[in-house]
Amino acid sequence: MSDLDTPTSYPLHIHHHDPNAKYDPPQHLIDNAHVKSFDQYQQLYQLSVKDPEAFWSKLAEQFHWESKPTGQFLNYNFDIRKGPIYIKWLEGAKTNISYNMLDRHVKNGLGNKVAFYWEGNDPGDNGKITYNELLVQVSKFANVLKKLGVNKGDRVAIYMPMIVELVICMLACARIGAVHSIVFAGFSAESLSDRILDANCCALVTADGVWRGSKLLNLKSIVDRALEICKDKGKPVDTCVVVRHLTPFENSNGVYTEDSPDECPVAKRPCTKLKISWSPERDFWWSDLMHDASEYCDPEWMDAEDPLFMLYTSGSTGKPKGVLHTVGGYMLYAVATCKYVFDLQPDDIYWCTADVGWITGHTYVCYGPLGNAVTGIIFEGTPFYPDAGRFWAVIEKYKVTKFYTAPTAIRSLMKFDDSFVTKHDRSSLKILGTVGEPINPEAWLWYHKIVGNENCAIVDTFWQTETGGHVITPLPAATKTKPGSATFPFFGIVPALLTDDGKEIVGPGEGYLVFKQPWPGIMRTVFNNHERFEITYFKKFPGYYTTGDGAKRDEEGYLWITGRIDDMVNVSGHLLSTAEVESALIEHEAVSEAASGETFSDDLVKELTAAVRLKIGPFAQPDYIQNAPALPKTRSGKIMRRILRKIAVNDRDIGDTSTLADESVIDFLFKLRPKDA
Ligand code: ATP
Ligand code: MG
Repeated sequence: MSDLDTPTSYPLHIHHHDPNAKYDPPQHLIDNAHVKSFDQYQQLYQLSVKDPEAFWSKLAEQFHWESKPTGQFLNYNFDIRKGPIYIKWLEGAKTNISYNMLDRHVKNGLGNKVAFYWEGNDPGDNGKITYNELLVQVSKFANVLKKLGVNKGDRVAIYMPMIVELVICMLACARIGAVHSIVFAGFSAESLSDRILDANCCALVTADGVWRGSKLLNLKSIVDRALEICKDKGKPVDTCVVVRHLTPFENSNGVYTEDSPDECPVAKRPCTKLKISWSPERDFWWSDLMHDASEYCDPEWMDAEDPLFMLYTSGSTGKPKGVLHTVGGYMLYAVATCKYVFDLQPDDIYWCTADVGWITGHTYVCYGPLGNAVTGIIFEGTPFYPDAGRFWAVIEKYKVTKFYTAPTAIRSLMKFDDSFVTKHDRSSLKILGTVGEPINPEAWLWYHKIVGNENCAIVDTFWQTETGGHVITPLPAATKTKPGSATFPFFGIVPALLTDDGKEIVGPGEGYLVFKQPWPGIMRTVFNNHERFEITYFKKFPGYYTTGDGAKRDEEGYLWITGRIDDMVNVSGHLLSTAEVESALIEHEAVSEAASGETFSDDLVKELTAAVRLKIGPFAQPDYIQNAPALPKTRSGKIMRRILRKIAVNDRDIGDTSTLADESVIDFLFKLRPKDA
């Protein structure tokens, strides 16, 4: 430790706020809210954990069930000492999730309601689809899949940009009982082929290409390489369906040539550089297949415990896990969390910015909003294109009421002048959500004050690919919030904090965040690897589901997620969370996530060191601060701290990097590293 003196007052560039300041739910939400007070939340919560059957069967009534459960409503083993782990909700009940997302609403007279507005990468490029139209498209593509030989239980890989066909494809799979496995369309050919092979997919649905900001991605060429790898490994994929998103119809042989016009006739997207190749045996244009497909497709009645989809985790802590979710429980949980956490009302315009390639997109772009029959937005672009005001421009354009994004987006947008936000009308906004990483108070307050104009509830939602939906979260009209705290458990969730030797911490304290009983949306297994499921989530603390995250409970019972347990640092016997240190640092003006743009000076190092010392304590004071103009992040935007740790100790053996967004950052950071540190 260095011998810096503790300063007596905060250095000039450090903002300070009171960690116990509480923010009341906005009055305008309360009258009409599903849960109007903290008392009401607590009553419902008690019922949900003491009598899950009573609680969840009430919520299940809104759905169509072709038949009732044949066995117990909930049947599970959470304790590995007693035998294999299993979780079953509503076993034997028959339903279909696409029927519940579409046909049910159409039958209730909501067919003409807009299901999605589509907002393209280019601000002039947009469209919309009603519930009626979505049902027709889904039924048609379900028939297409059947015709291509896809059967119930088969896995279908989806590698698509944020276009309406992506949701159509998911729901079409669900309609015939095929299991969708979506791979974010930013992954490399290698990562895509790994996932196709691991899931043993029989077909792949993709698009020709996409503009992301000012970058053109030729998805088809990535897919070609991925399928080449699958073939080389002896597991060829016979069917590849390609959505014509950028390629003009004129070239119906599917080859886009240099002599094509500059402007793509389908929409205002320049696409001269997109050249795709075609394997006539394997490749089909989506539009050709849809042309004469029937508009009616009876849903396949699925067991509540049949698989619905699999999805790989972000890979922040290691090799991604193929998380498997089932039909009935996931449907209940996705729709319930979306309804209560965003307090959905019939006239809402709801926008979740997450890519459908992540769990947030599955649950809160597709299944959650559709199950609640609200109008959602599918956004193809990025927050920075054409400028850093895009989010707020879209909010103004569609009069968005509920908005959901990630701390990483907020942190990078708050670096820009506030006028990017304030020049747009945001008066429609009521609830602002975040998910993905701990949100530091600095970013929370900016979101609340600048974006929300101090008139919106902020919901910091903690959850995982594995949990299917929110597990620790405020309810917008019931919970007083504290910046940086995810607050209290959602219905059905019984959290506990454990010490390293498995003792429950009662009252205030910090430990391993675990859950004591199953909720409907919990994953059922790791695809094809039940052992990895049991070892990852149930072994360290028998009897509990282990999240892998740490959390702190304060004097008032609020929960604060402190980050991955693996990322905790032991400093002279104190377990220190990265979130805590990062929050202290980020309050400095020069720090966003990385000190980009600032000159990295000795004075700055001193100020930052002092900030940590003041906020946390002298023991936490860093020995060394490295300038990092960029950070290693997953493609979903999470900081990969396990890699930072390797860089810190100069260990080049950095493990699985398939989910890393930008490999070059690693070399760059190793180079910046001083030789003797
Ligand atoms: P992998 O499991 O492969 O390491 P991952 O955990 O990043 O990847 P996801 O399931 O996408 O994959 O992310 C879940 C994790 O994100 C949580 O375990 C937690 O660490 C973090 N997280 C999500 N929401 C929040 C939140 N509101 N506050 C704090 N952390 C959050
Ligand atoms: Mg994880």
